[in-house]
Amino acid sequence: VLIIKHKDKLSPDYVPENLPHREDKIRELGFTFRGLLTGESKDSERVVIVGRTGTGKTATVKLFGKSFEDIAEREYGVKVKYIHINCYRHRSLYLISQEIGNALKLPVPARGLSSQELFKMVHEYLDRRNIHLIVGLDEFGHFLNTAPTEEIYFLVRLYDEISAIIKRISYIFIVNDSYSIYKLDKSIRDHIVRRVIEFQPYKSTELYDILKYRTSEAFNENTVDDEALQFIANTYGFDKGGSGNARIAIETLSLAGEIAEKEGSPIVLLDHVKRANSAINPEIQEIVDSLSYLDLHQLILLEALIRVLKRNKADEITMGMLENEYISLARELNEEPRKHTQVYEYLRKLKAIGVVNTRQSGKGMRGRTTLVSLSLPLDKKLDEYITQQILVKLK
Ligand code: ADP
Repeated sequence: VLIIKHKDKLSPDYVPENLPHREDKIRELGFTFRGLLTGESKDSERVVIVGRTGTGKTATVKLFGKSFEDIAEREYGVKVKYIHINCYRHRSLYLISQEIGNALKLPVPARGLSSQELFKMVHEYLDRRNIHLIVGLDEFGHFLNTAPTEEIYFLVRLYDEISAIIKRISYIFIVNDSYSIYKLDKSIRDHIVRRVIEFQPYKSTELYDILKYRTSEAFNENTVDDEALQFIANTYGFDKGGSGNARIAIETLSLAGEIAEKEGSPIVLLDHVKRANSAINPEIQEIVDSLSYLDLHQLILLEALIRVLKRNKADEITMGMLENEYISLARELNEEPRKHTQVYEYLRKLKAIGVVNTRQSGKGMRGRTTLVSLSLPLDKKLDEYITQQILVKLK
């Protein structure tokens, strides 16, 4: 029995026509770029989008780009072109400028032009045809981390180099954590950060709506049990201790559908979802992969968290408890414990890769304190892996 009607509509690259719970972000983007429509904008607009993996950044920006192009043309008679570039794949100024050239179908010579010259070509083309360009730079952190400073500077200050009265290229910078931007030199940062739109991890009720909608697109009617959707939403919902990642939630749904089909079940049941869940758990794999990039003291802090959670059989501990444990664990390893502010930085990093969650304590505790929890299930393998990483890095 076939229960999946459009498999492609479950693929991570597919951009659905609706994005439940992201309508306000699309409106906010429209507001940011409204100047392009009315011709009021005399400057290049910039907006930074910050949010963890799977919070819908890519899908939202792509959907915005497409609909903004349409509205500009239809309602304002203005030509706007949106181009989406993944900086993980194109992580130099040259590759970015080539991508833009290609997207505009410019006759880009295979060799011989510098990125500066390419940008100039792009600019002249836009000017001649009276087109405004919005470039979405996805995974922009990769560019910031690998490109030389001059290239970053050139990209974001473009218009100081090419004299132009009307500024034709605007940017949407997409990053996973704001750290990659805030560590930049102020002179560059000020050109990037004008407006910041944050994408929070999805809550379980939001994931439920998203799954429900994606189910209606991809599955035949009444082939997915509601309990199954509830289970996925509760597993990954940020408010339930999950990562709030819609991508993993949809992947789980997709795999559960395949399992059900293979078994000849006419409907996706809770059990299929549970099996899909334990089969993938890419969520954990993804996070575990990123652990190897952590510094020694970030790993020590993580190990300290695991120790206290275990010892207290708790789901959550205070920042104070964590810091004390971190200090004694560091000493145990003959490492000088880092200062308080540094430890906070490390915590931010752990949060950014999705391995820990923090929240402010509410009532019932004196003062306000930060509570820290682990976003992964505490298992022996994870613990061993972290210990091993620490040993590797202890040199
Ligand atoms: P990010 O860029 O933040 O990592 P994506 O935009 O790639 O996240 O989203 C991950 C997956 O989840 C994609 O398949 C996307 O279509 C889907 N998705 C994310 N948010 C929503 C939403 N609000 N409604 C429907 N699908 C969503």
